[in-house]
Amino acid sequence: MSIFDKFQDIAAGIGELAGLGIMPFGAEIEQISSATEGVVLGHPVILAGTNNYLGLTFDPDCVQAAREALQVQGTGTTGSRLANGSYAGHLALERELAQFYATPSAIVFSTGFLATMGAVSTLTGPGDSILIDADCHASIYEGTRLSGAEVIRFRHNNPEDLERRLHRLPRGGEGSTLVVVEGIYSMLGDRAPLAEIAALTRQFGAYLMVDEAHSLGVLGATGRGLTEELGVEDAVDFIVGTFSKSLGAVGGFCTSRHPELELMRYSARSYIFSASLVPSVVASTRVALRILRERQDLRERLWGNVNHLYHALSTAGFRLGPEPSPVIAMMVESKDQALVWWRRLLEQGVYVNVVLPPATPTGGALLRCSLSAAHTEDQVERIREALCGLGATDARAWAPQADSAPLA
Ligand code: PMP
Repeated sequence: MSIFDKFQDIAAGIGELAGLGIMPFGAEIEQISSATEGVVLGHPVILAGTNNYLGLTFDPDCVQAAREALQVQGTGTTGSRLANGSYAGHLALERELAQFYATPSAIVFSTGFLATMGAVSTLTGPGDSILIDADCHASIYEGTRLSGAEVIRFRHNNPEDLERRLHRLPRGGEGSTLVVVEGIYSMLGDRAPLAEIAALTRQFGAYLMVDEAHSLGVLGATGRGLTEELGVEDAVDFIVGTFSKSLGAVGGFCTSRHPELELMRYSARSYIFSASLVPSVVASTRVALRILRERQDLRERLWGNVNHLYHALSTAGFRLGPEPSPVIAMMVESKDQALVWWRRLLEQGVYVNVVLPPATPTGGALLRCSLSAAHTEDQVERIREALCGLGATDARAWAPQADSAPLA
């Protein structure tokens, strides 16, 4: 028996795509000339599949800060912070994040995945319970697996189901309970009903963690995310996020209103045993965070683009996620249709993402656009034209299917 036998299904799937001559996963981006333009598989395209929500990847101040840090501090730190030491930039970035969230401290990790996985797996252990929204990101699932805690999924965005499951937990035990949700979910762009979830979490004496990966910079008056937008910051115990979307770099963080968060630094294995963020990334992220806080106009531009495209596609009859968001997902009848449409869009100069089951919460295929503050009105119009040209005349009204999926 070969060690690779377990990949047979994957090999069959890849073979099928090769047969169709369409390979949308890991497509080569041959050139990238701005936050919104590049060349993908030989086609000059508008980038509408990059989660670059504020369009800061080419911001001159971010680029300059990264360049200076590279020249002065070198290409990498070559080690983890606990073992080899923290650079001044790491500490400054953590202070600035804590100041941004008005929390006692923040811990920076080398990726968003490591931050979320590390926080979930370190804060909980055997004897604890974790309740996660069924549509949570893989990094949250991974954290639950490593924690040794009892893991309970509740139906996506369904506070009643969360309440039922909280009721079923044994009372009076020693263990803690952690509820984990996301600000904006990356597949359909829908938001968590956070006020209801926060109230339940408090009622049951549980802790609440919100992954603001897709809502940082996007929601809230100063861009702190859904927690700020709904004014529930006092009811949220832990916020995790990433530098890889609105902040245009790579890295992640966890912050908390509890000063004891600092202890996690000495026990989170994904923090202790991984090399720290490189100086140029720390430098560009610090500038991007300042821009994110100060430039409300970027959020306004982003939402202008979002509302325009979402309403145009909805009027054209496409089945979309339930509310406007920088992630606009179109539900497509079949996998083959999604692949053919993806290639047609590419040929017409628009690059989006394709998501196929079982990775989708709906069980069907998705074409997923992500919009940016950096998209011009003309670019959004070209995206709209290309998408509407696909023709979705038989589209049915949106019906949330994730909620009816059977759960263990
Ligand atoms: N959480 C969520 C909700 C995400 O969507 C992602 C990445 N897409 C991550 C965490 C991980 O972040 P990163 O890609 O920066 O490691």
